[in-house]
Amino acid sequence: MDTMSVTVRRDFCVGNGNCVRVAPEVFALEGSGPAEVLTKNPSDDLREQVEEAEAFCPTDAIEVIRL
Ligand code: SF4
Repeated sequence: MDTMSVTVRRDFCVGNGNCVRVAPEVFALEGSGPAEVLTKNPSDDLREQVEEAEAFCPTDAIEVIRL
């Protein structure tokens, strides 16, 4: 069951890679970015990682909608 919808606001991303470090199954980064979302509707077992990535993004580029 989908529990979240995850997007990256590309204009806000500064490509520091925090999201990839804490949630590598959900985010990817090539070069200086912007980060890509690999899993747009992560399952509930990834919730903690996604929330950590959201919290550690320095520019609030990660948008999480709880479904
Ligand atoms: S943590 Fe935020 S700013 Fe850094 S790469 Fe991920 S989306 Fe971009």
